[in-house]
Amino acid sequence: LKSPSPAGLVWQVTRNESAKSDAERDAILADPGFGNHFTDHMVDICWSEKGGWHRPRVSPYGPIQLDPAAAVLHYAQEIFEGLKAYRYADGSIRTFRPYENAARMQRSARRMALPELPVEYFIDSLKQLVAIDADWVPSAPETSLYLRPFMFAKEAFLGVRPAKKVAYYLIASPAAAYFPGGVQPVNIWLSTQYARAGKGGTGAAKTGGNYASSLLPQAEAYEKGCQQVLFLDEGKYLEELGGMNVVLVTKDGTLITPESDSILEGITRDSILRLAADRGHQVEQRRVTLDEWREGAASGDIVGAFACGTAAVVVPIGRLLGEDFEIVHSGSQAEELALSLREELTGIQYGRVEDRHGWMVRL
Ligand code: PMP
Repeated sequence: LKSPSPAGLVWQVTRNESAKSDAERDAILADPGFGNHFTDHMVDICWSEKGGWHRPRVSPYGPIQLDPAAAVLHYAQEIFEGLKAYRYADGSIRTFRPYENAARMQRSARRMALPELPVEYFIDSLKQLVAIDADWVPSAPETSLYLRPFMFAKEAFLGVRPAKKVAYYLIASPAAAYFPGGVQPVNIWLSTQYARAGKGGTGAAKTGGNYASSLLPQAEAYEKGCQQVLFLDEGKYLEELGGMNVVLVTKDGTLITPESDSILEGITRDSILRLAADRGHQVEQRRVTLDEWREGAASGDIVGAFACGTAAVVVPIGRLLGEDFEIVHSGSQAEELALSLREELTGIQYGRVEDRHGWMVRL
């Protein structure tokens, strides 16, 4: 079956003959958790040095065959993205700022010497998968269909150089509400022994190695009774958490967030800061030191902090725990601000609040 698309791609579509039954799918959607279950189909597009992007395909979800010498398995030439599709009350399905994810994936590709997927191909891949697996977009409050685009070096070659054969894939996984019992502040462990990224490194790219290197410090965080880990640059500047950006709140309502070329530029953070600016809050993106946070918390100038990212949207930081100190932010005005910005953003994402920035894209 072939179907032409607005991006000019001719998709080769193969339906999954052993797709889940309605009853099986409904059972999964009733309690999906995160990242456990996958929809009936997936998308892939090939790239080769000679042929460019070709053979866009929608096929039954299933294992990928790779040569044991595929470069990604050895040198981690790989990038990914993460965004959500939301079910509106009228049944329609939308995504949040997908053009930003497409652009970020191109930036990640440049850093990892991978080919850039044209933005319209990225958007078209979302449309194709969400169209064929539309029934997998859940409708309970704060649930979504998590979309995971990724790209890797598939050329079978052990020399260290950019691969001449690459694959782009898109898979989807239904996601439960992140905070079923209401938003709970998180405790953060400050990692001083490990760094996530360095100057000139790959910190700004969404590439697997950054996440592999965060696993050990993340395990340390769990041991310390914390849910997330905060990384520093040069042992003193705030960077970000393992999978979320960080924002400090001052007593006069100014939001401060790290400026750094070794963090991932979060789309949630950008959106939250715009909503805050719309409300008249000052927003500062600049270098911030850990000392500034510690001293500000002690003097009362900094009244709280929150983390933000696609998965949890916004979550207040209750405590920052270091080797020899602790910052405690409790029940403050910052927490109220974080929660009210979260409410506004999720309101836009689920169609309850007017989308005045034109962020939602119908699939
Ligand atoms: N930093 C890191 C390291 C992340 O993995 C993520 C999640 N993609 C974020 C920040 C937040 O980005 P976004 O708001 O686009 O999800």
